[in-house]
Amino acid sequence: MITALITHPDCLEHVTPAGHPEQVARLEYILRALKDKDLQRIKAPMGSEDDIMRCHPASHITDLRSALPNVGSRALDADTHMSPGSLDAAFRAVGAVTKAVDMVMSGEAGNAFAAIRPPGHHCETSTPMGFCLFGNVAIGAKYALEHHGLKRVAVVDFDVHHGNGTQDLLWNEARALVITSQQMPLWPGTGERSDKGGHDNIVNLPIPPESAGDQMRALYTSEAFPRLRAFKPEMIFISAGFDAHQDDPLANLNWSTDDFKWLTQELCKIADEICDGRVVSALEGGYDLDALAEAVAAHVDALMEASA
Ligand SMILES: [Zn+2]
Repeated sequence: MITALITHPDCLEHVTPAGHPEQVARLEYILRALKDKDLQRIKAPMGSEDDIMRCHPASHITDLRSALPNVGSRALDADTHMSPGSLDAAFRAVGAVTKAVDMVMSGEAGNAFAAIRPPGHHCETSTPMGFCLFGNVAIGAKYALEHHGLKRVAVVDFDVHHGNGTQDLLWNEARALVITSQQMPLWPGTGERSDKGGHDNIVNLPIPPESAGDQMRALYTSEAFPRLRAFKPEMIFISAGFDAHQDDPLANLNWSTDDFKWLTQELCKIADEICDGRVVSALEGGYDLDALAEAVAAHVDALMEASA
């Protein structure tokens, strides 16, 4: 089978203020890095409000609609901004993930990568934050459970920041195992090991600043992979943030591009063992443009090798 690349030009119309790290160029660099790869290229549909409302109340959508500026930019908080194209971009981001679930479930694709922005893993139930407007991956997880009737899904979040939004949205969802690794201390300050979810379904794995990929490999091997295998999810979601890269300006971990490839390969191996290789990955962070493009290319190469 083939790997699907799901994206949409609308995701380039979410424009952040000059100098903001979560910038349009991130997606341009990524798409350039992927342009010669043998991928099934799909334009993301708009996400549906019904799918979003499995995670967020209707008021969250209404609030975003009323915050949308006609021109220029509006700050929702110190980090999170909306431009006139932001809401369409956010709906495409959700639609990319639900479309990815559909394609992998139907066998149209072996696995899928959603190249999307805005990212999603910091958005809480009613609070957009950390560049995120909707909880894209959590919405995808709920969609897989409710729309496709899966019994269990897992989310692995290797973005360098804590996936506080995904944790919040899936805290009481016993059918979802969330494994999130994060540099600690680091913004947003959450992600302690003692936070385990309403059903022991959240696994927080703090990583000390300045540590390198070998420490990550040991941590995932000893803790994340056994939990994943024991839970036996029927689909594995990846919140794929690349800001643990040694060149990233927003954090202080020292992972190499090869570390991202290794982690992706290991997750795909586990998916092969327990869920017919079903992996849906969605872009989160990653702010050094060259490192981001290179690491995403390595991540997608690993997905392609696994689906071949
Ligand atoms: Zn991040």
